[in-house]
Amino acid sequence: MKVLVINCGSSSIKYQLFDMPDKRVIAKGLVERIGDQGSALVFEHDGEKNRVEQPISDHDAGVALILKALVDPKDGVIGDIKEIVACGHRVVHGGEAFTGSVVINDKVIATIEKVADLAPLHNPPNLTGIRAAQHALPDVPQIACFDTAFHTSIPEVAYMYALPYELYEKYGIRRYGFHGTSHRYVARRAAKILGRHKYNINCITCHMGNGSSITAMRDGKSVDTSMGLTPLEGVAMGTRCGDIDPALLFYLADKGYDIDALNKLCNKQSGVLGLSGVSNDVRTVSEKAQQGDERCQLAIDVFCYKIKKYIGAYTAVLGRIDAVIFTGGIGENAPDIRAAICDELYQIGIVMDTDRNEQVVGVEGEVTRSGSPVKVLVIPTDEEIAIAGDTYDMALELAGGSTTDAPRADAAVDDLGAAKAR
Ligand code: ADP
Repeated sequence: MKVLVINCGSSSIKYQLFDMPDKRVIAKGLVERIGDQGSALVFEHDGEKNRVEQPISDHDAGVALILKALVDPKDGVIGDIKEIVACGHRVVHGGEAFTGSVVINDKVIATIEKVADLAPLHNPPNLTGIRAAQHALPDVPQIACFDTAFHTSIPEVAYMYALPYELYEKYGIRRYGFHGTSHRYVARRAAKILGRHKYNINCITCHMGNGSSITAMRDGKSVDTSMGLTPLEGVAMGTRCGDIDPALLFYLADKGYDIDALNKLCNKQSGVLGLSGVSNDVRTVSEKAQQGDERCQLAIDVFCYKIKKYIGAYTAVLGRIDAVIFTGGIGENAPDIRAAICDELYQIGIVMDTDRNEQVVGVEGEVTRSGSPVKVLVIPTDEEIAIAGDTYDMALELAGGSTTDAPRADAAVDDLGAAKAR
């Protein structure tokens, strides 16, 4: 049984085709620059890379091209499109409505549309991808997996802003959190590695990529996370400022900045890029810092300091932690950043192992000394495999063959790491 996973942006469609239940990736690729010059399908089938440049006018054309490539008699990986039994979609914002992945119907689409103003850059293209897939695969169940869903267990005390309550009632102003699929995936893997039940682990997961967020989990469930109403809140990121004093926006407005300029400033010109003046790319900025560039060093220091502060805060929230988990491009690949965050966290029970930390790059592994009361684990994230798991699980359920009565979102990722290891 094949499951197609789609992650749709405004001008791109990323996809992976999984063979289920093995969760083996048999094809993956990207349609890029949709509606623009130089649009192309870039794909990898059975390890072979290809690039097909051709006009791709819209998302419908993009999905059609993906499906055509999958069944291509020469380069394709499946004989018939009917082999695809379900299609999973990454949807960034589900508001308060979705506590797990759902089968898409008109009501679900209307709800995703309703909360689109909370994620104006993401939800509309996600919906475009859903519609294009519905169009191309009308007989196949379409499943939505929300970045926000895993965080719906966060209690009121953590999700409410100290603003007039009416704003929550009227506009849904509260903290939602993002990267939920990634946080859930790495936490479930961590539970497996530590030999614990997935609901018997207290941990802090650090997803550090271009966007970064930190999540506190009690008994395997999210109880707080650093991103808020939007993915701007929290730690410093590639181009996003993270937590700031909101009054500085009024101050800058007084100096002549309008809403668009402030939005751009906070989302696109800040973070590692803003501080370093060089790049949003942590690897580039780290290299420059090592060569003596002081602003680059400052950018790295601020990036690490804010994450360290969140780890401290979430340790206080949780009381007891079993593990801190690093994931995302930076968390997985940058031992120096992990060391800068964790080397002095003895007081919360973290005893780093320098050699192990240096060795664990882009792979799963422990980077604390044996016997460290709190383990630090590196776990490469895989949001697509988590979405494929949810999608397959729900397709089975729809077909009346569900094998589990656990909550869907958790059942789906339970054994994913084992699948990845295969
Ligand atoms: P996205 O949020 O776009 O999915 P990724 O998870 O791919 O981002 O992470 C991208 C970030 O990871 C970039 O800042 C990149 O510099 C960083 N990164 C990747 N490899 C390394 C490395 N070896 N050292 C430091 N940073 C790295």
